[in-house]
Amino acid sequence: MPSEPAEAAPGGGPPSGTTETALPEHGRTAGDLLTELARLRDADLPVRGGHVTAYVYDTGREAVHDLAATAYREMLEVNCLDPTAFPSIVALERRVVSAVADRLGGGTGIFTSGGTESIMLAVKGARDARPVAGRPRIVLPATAHPAFHKAAHYLGLAVDPVPVDGGFRADPAAVAAAITPDTVLVVASAPSYPQGVMDPVEEIAAIAASAGVLCHVDACVGGWVLPWLRDLGRPVPPFDLSVPGVTSISCDLHKYGYAPKGASVVLFADESVRRAAYFASAEWPGYTVINAGVQSSKSAGPLGAAWATLNAVGARGYRDLAATAMGTAERFIAGVAAIPGLRVLGEPAVPLVAVASDDPALDVFTVADEARARGWFFQPQLAYQGIPPNLHFTLTGVSDVDALLSALADAAEAARAVGPPDVPADLLDALAGLDLDALDDAGFTGLLAAVGVDLDGGGPEMAVVNTVLNGLPPATREALLVRFLSALYAG
Ligand SMILES: *Cc1c(COP(=O)(O)O)cnc(C)c1O
Repeated sequence: MPSEPAEAAPGGGPPSGTTETALPEHGRTAGDLLTELARLRDADLPVRGGHVTAYVYDTGREAVHDLAATAYREMLEVNCLDPTAFPSIVALERRVVSAVADRLGGGTGIFTSGGTESIMLAVKGARDARPVAGRPRIVLPATAHPAFHKAAHYLGLAVDPVPVDGGFRADPAAVAAAITPDTVLVVASAPSYPQGVMDPVEEIAAIAASAGVLCHVDACVGGWVLPWLRDLGRPVPPFDLSVPGVTSISCDLHKYGYAPKGASVVLFADESVRRAAYFASAEWPGYTVINAGVQSSKSAGPLGAAWATLNAVGARGYRDLAATAMGTAERFIAGVAAIPGLRVLGEPAVPLVAVASDDPALDVFTVADEARARGWFFQPQLAYQGIPPNLHFTLTGVSDVDALLSALADAAEAARAVGPPDVPADLLDALAGLDLDALDDAGFTGLLAAVGVDLDGGGPEMAVVNTVLNGLPPATREALLVRFLSALYAG
């Protein structure tokens, strides 16, 4: 990278040519840096306010989020690497884990950085607690979160996929048929993310138990909303560690716990399975390494913030937030039925709603683009195993259902006027047959530009990209997504 002479940028900003490529020789002022941060964040989706119906969870209670930030900062530089050096992390983790266990059927647990890490540990615990003769295997319904595929990939397990029924629920008979002598774990979701529907946890756990196999319930998204909905008198089928045969469960506090990102809990019925999730190494001449989770050095900020959030909101607060979010979801579902061409997929048990189109002239990916142009983010989900493409809505404590419905209705009307994106059929064939290994990041960026995708932003017209991906098999989607991410960071 040739070095350019540093010039003062207009407005006292950083010297041009150095902002992205090199560290400044002299440290920049706080004011200057925070201004740049704010400017960079201008392009981000808003994290508060309910116009982004995925990724972010807003209580609508400013003081709760402010307190979490303060607690986060208080614990920011404490290192979870050594719990004997910083006993506060043991005390906080015990409090957070037991508060979750108290609502999810007991057990013994680990505080982790998120659902993916909780799932990774559940899979590792299962693999190492009950070693099998062959390659360990995991039985996975089609709607299970990709974190299980990731865990299988990282930990060397094979996946045995099983289909879901017309209501997007895992099929227990198929689960039973998929179990082999090398199966170490069976998975059920409470609920699965895409349509928010509950798998038949009791049936699947009983099947696993009778086969002598461990059973993990993925309650990452549902675990901190279902108990409150049950308290409110809503019908919630048993799903937690109190169900016979359920041996572990994951619950993300950075979703319906409304804690800042980096907060989840995995609970184990049996402490020996929890220990099988741990990792220790004395194979070097440095400090002793004993980690419950995937990371070694890690900030205690998320732990402090999660503890503060849980206790500031309290059981009553979570009940109120769950009532609001679920009430919003129900009004949203009723409202969607009144929008021509749109329909809700399945019967969600939590405030997650998937909306598909029945009308070929109304393309959901175009609806998402039209909504984005109106200041809303609706999350596209690609077609998979007979489930049509759809938009996902995560409703929270702050969702304004009337505004949301009118945004959806307006976006749908505009999308109908625009029509579905025009993707030449031979483009899909060309992509499916493309030799990606022959392209470097620059070559791939050039290819994207040729089909109108600009990695530097500009009009976020994603309908074409989504339609292309939607038309390709999962393995090709995955290969293209890897190249997309690589090109994005290559810049
Ligand atoms: C969000 C989610 C996960 C993964 O959680 P991360 O915190 O994003 O790692 C796993 N399972 C379900 C059902 C989820 O909704």
